[in-house]
Amino acid sequence: MDLFEYQGKQFFAGYGMPVSPGEIAFTVDEAVAAAERLGTPVMVKAQVHTGGRGKAGGVKFAATIDDVRTHASDILGLDINGHVVGRVWIEKASDIAEEYYASFTLDRSARKHLGMLSAEGGVEIETVAEQNPDAIAKIWVDPVDGLDEEACREWVAAANLPDAAVDGTVRIMLQLYTAYVEGDADLVEINPLILTPEGEVHVLDAKVTLDGNSVFRHEGYAAFDETQARDERETAAHAGGLQYVGLDGSVGVIANGAGLAMSTVDVVNQVGGAAANFLDIGGGANADVMAGALEVINNDPAVRSIFINIFGGITRGDEVANGILEALSRVQIEAPIVIRLDGTNADEGRAILEPHLSDTLAMASTMLEAAERAVELAGAAAVGA
Ligand code: GDP
Ligand code: MG
Repeated sequence: MDLFEYQGKQFFAGYGMPVSPGEIAFTVDEAVAAAERLGTPVMVKAQVHTGGRGKAGGVKFAATIDDVRTHASDILGLDINGHVVGRVWIEKASDIAEEYYASFTLDRSARKHLGMLSAEGGVEIETVAEQNPDAIAKIWVDPVDGLDEEACREWVAAANLPDAAVDGTVRIMLQLYTAYVEGDADLVEINPLILTPEGEVHVLDAKVTLDGNSVFRHEGYAAFDETQARDERETAAHAGGLQYVGLDGSVGVIANGAGLAMSTVDVVNQVGGAAANFLDIGGGANADVMAGALEVINNDPAVRSIFINIFGGITRGDEVANGILEALSRVQIEAPIVIRLDGTNADEGRAILEPHLSDTLAMASTMLEAAERAVELAGAAAVGA
């Protein structure tokens, strides 16, 4: 779950970190009103789930209210890396002496949290990593031990920040670590963390990714969840309680279990096709769930064939077969369907489906065969279209 910059700053502020005052605006008039309340100069900042906003013209300094009007009208509606700006953050402008970079994320192979800090902030950290890797001070934190002040101080010292920035940075890094762990974040990044001419260390940008599975245990995360950028297909699927991820291919995929759904996407690729989605219908696979899944896939114009891949475990094959037939009687499906049914009561399930097979409803005995058939049908449909 990716947060907008202003949400990331709210999140940080909740852990005591210093951020600038600001207001969110959806229109030019709202931006102007916000700037009048805050007092100029202000920054006008595009709120989109992508970085590099500054370079794309999405972050502008406004010395006067007229500037705010001009910049807000330029930035609202701007396309930044495929993200259209629908809201701007109006923030009291800061004076900058220096810009730093700071982040925490998980280093899976080390099984530790990884903190990165650099005196060369403001620019993309990938560029620093490439051209001057020594300029990034790293710390690996054992999640069981946590980050204590002494270790944090050593880490900050290794980043060679000027003396004036050290104490403030140590304090903010301890807060950042706490926010990252207690807030169930996958990534927290501040770029730039600034030193002001007055000697204050301050958060100027925030990139935060929270674990979407932790929404239930944090008050306030539901509001973050509502602003997630999902494509239409994903919004419809999530509303129906389905585990769905939209992809770019033409074979619609329905499978029971996340592992099987991933393998199904892989097998479709392996035989030269491309999946239109990942869809895990979970253990149930009854008619309601199946109808919901088929509806979501049916509404995707890119889908040319549908591959239903079911492995009966606790769910029995005959129940699944009846569920599929009932779902098909409820939903008018455009694309041809290939079913692979295996596991518990698979024979009974296949016998139920048998009389209903047609040009548009096929069955295959293995996952590979089914994938080949589905990809073939997707190709034929594409040629015919
Ligand atoms: P990004 O381009 O998406 O990373 O957006 P940032 O929020 O990092 O802003 C880009 C750049 O704009 C920063 O690196 C700063 O140099 C500049 N900037 C942002 N806020 C301020 C501010 O309050 N005052 C000044 N002088 N510059 C700012
Ligand atoms: Mg930035």
